[in-house]
Parts: sequence; C-alpha cells; structure tokens
Amino acid sequence: MANAPRKRIGWQALAVGAGLVALGSYGFLTMTATGRELLLEAETRARYLRLKAIMAAKGIRLFTGSTRRTSEQQAAVVAKGTSAVKTASWHQSGRAVDAYPIDPVTGKPDLAGKNAGAFRQMHQEWAKLGGSGLAYSPYPDGPMRYLTTSKGKVWDGGHLEYHGGYPTALAALRASGPVTA
Ligand SMILES: [Zn+2]
Repeated sequence: MANAPRKRIGWQALAVGAGLVALGSYGFLTMTATGRELLLEAETRARYLRLKAIMAAKGIRLFTGSTRRTSEQQAAVVAKGTSAVKTASWHQSGRAVDAYPIDPVTGKPDLAGKNAGAFRQMHQEWAKLGGSGLAYSPYPDGPMRYLTTSKGKVWDGGHLEYHGGYPTALAALRASGPVTA
C-alpha cells in the first residue's frame, strides 16, 4: 500500500466492487413478487406500493426482493454475509423490503447497483413516505454508506425500512404477529 500508487476509486465503482448486500439472498426468493409483498406488515406494504407507483410514474419499475423473513432465513443471510444484522432485522417483522430498480434494457433487477441515480431517487421518495434505509448516511441525501458483514463490506442499496414508531427492530418483532402466509 505504501509503495504502490493507488488510484482513487469513485463511490459508484466501489459499490459495484463491494457488491450489493442482498445479492446473496436473491437465490431463495421462491415466492412471486406479489406473494412476497403480501408478507409485508400492512403499513409498510401500503407505503411500498405507493413508492412503486411513484417510481413507475418516473419510468422506473421496482423489483421486489426479500420482504418478511423467518428467523431461519435471517440467520441464513447473516451466515452468507449478506446482512450485517446479528440480532433482529426489520425484515423479521415485515417492516423491511429489498427493492431494486429494473434495468429497462435487460428487464432484470439492477443487483449490481449500476444505476446509482435510480437507487438515490427510490430512497429519496421512500424518505418522503416516512421510510428509512441503510444505503446513505445521512439518509437519504448523504454519501453511500457501507456495512460490515461476516464477508466484508457491502452496500445495502435495495433495503427499505418503515419503523412505524418502533424504536428498534426487536421491539417491532415482539409486537408483530406470527408469519401467516
Ligand atoms: Zn434488506
């Protein structure tokens, strides 16, 4: 490091290099997007569906990835290094959704975070709906924020949370009912 001159890498390049955090959880999305949206807690789902409509009006469709997770699924993503959360996650109470702008050229979710502008807009709109996320700090206008997981640094660009007045994910989880779908 001391002798080799290092090129400065832009934030966007780093995002691609680090990989989006939820990439590893993409593999076990067995339900349809609509089915996964139905697993969301009602307030969170209403806001997320509103977000999808707002983004669609801007010409950006969103792919719905992971929504509510069981404690077994949460433990699996932690082990894979795609979640930094070791206790409770907002996903477990159905108050978090991983959403990815769909690349209009390929029709596939932008899991590599190539379209930084689309992610930024998604989070700015989500913040207006009372939501928060882990992708930027301060949220939603600050620089990209990286999380440290068991497999290194990742950018959780798709992750959207709606706390609904709960101070912690654990409090939300304790107040939530069992997974019914
Ligand atoms: Zn997430």
